[in-house]
Amino acid sequence: EAKGTGRDRMRFFDPAMQLAQDQRMRLLSELRLATELGQWRLYYQPQVDATRRMIGVEALLRWQHPRLGLLLPDDFIGLAEDSGLILPIGLWVLQTACAQLKQWEADPHSAGLPIAVNVSARQFRQPDFVAQIVALLAASECRPELLKLELTESLVLDDISNTIDTMLALKVLGLQFSMDDFGTGHASLSYLAQLPLDQLKIDKSFVAKLPGLAKDETIARAIITMGLGLNMRVIAEGVETEAQRDFLGTQGCAECQGFLFSRPLPIDALQDYLDKKAQPAATA
Ligand code: C2E
Ligand code: MG
Ligand code: MG
Ligand code: MG
Repeated sequence: EAKGTGRDRMRFFDPAMQLAQDQRMRLLSELRLATELGQWRLYYQPQVDATRRMIGVEALLRWQHPRLGLLLPDDFIGLAEDSGLILPIGLWVLQTACAQLKQWEADPHSAGLPIAVNVSARQFRQPDFVAQIVALLAASECRPELLKLELTESLVLDDISNTIDTMLALKVLGLQFSMDDFGTGHASLSYLAQLPLDQLKIDKSFVAKLPGLAKDETIARAIITMGLGLNMRVIAEGVETEAQRDFLGTQGCAECQGFLFSRPLPIDALQDYLDKKAQPAATA
């Protein structure tokens, strides 16, 4: 089969693919050193209520890469997960968030503000994940109620009984849980109702075309009704326009996160945002 062989060989020696593979290997070797070299940055995106008051933040990871500049998760999270490096990186994220919570406690403007942290499946499935959190909470002396873990539908569905056990153990400690990117996975209603979730996040793909696209209006409305009906808080992500915010608010979802309010900010800029909001209106 000369034809088939030729095609296989062409694919195998494809120079573009080889280049991509080389770049991936280079990035992986740099990723191995990133923690040690202090290249991780945690950005914080405000979450607001109907009055635009900040009610919390989501911590979003960035890689200050020496050659490529500030990298977004899409550039490296897959590689970190495949290689297992997500475990030390994820721990760094949790440590940094807990240290920030503790520091905020000292300032009345920021005391009580929760931080949401994204947790990957591999991290959550570690047999000692709960023990790691216990140790972190003890070391940082932060309030567990202010630490919120964001899980995805695929993580939850992968092993539902294990997921529920781990969530319950962490809820006993006081942690909160949010279902991220809700509506993009395959979680059924019966699964959702079984999980000890505090919050549902409407995925930004359903927010983007609001208002106007009837299909997405229906989906957003259904998610809000369902979440509130199950006694969860509902927050929309990816809110970029007043029209989106108005539509969501009218449907009962007053809590929002998105570029309309703020981009994810480095800690100094977030601190400025907090201090500005804390000033009395007369002096603003
Ligand atoms: P996510 O958890 O769903 O985070 C929301 C993403 O939407 C963030 O992208 C945020 O910057 C972006 N975003 C916020 N507001 C808007 C908006 O108004 N419009 C649009 N178009 N986008 C908006 P980012 O920071 O690039 O993060 C991407 C994903 O990477 C996150 O999605 C999360 O799944 C993952 N990720 C981020 N940090 C971590 C981490 O520390 N650990 C793990 N395991 N995953 C992380
Ligand atoms: Mg998230
Ligand atoms: Mg999300
Ligand atoms: Mg997302």
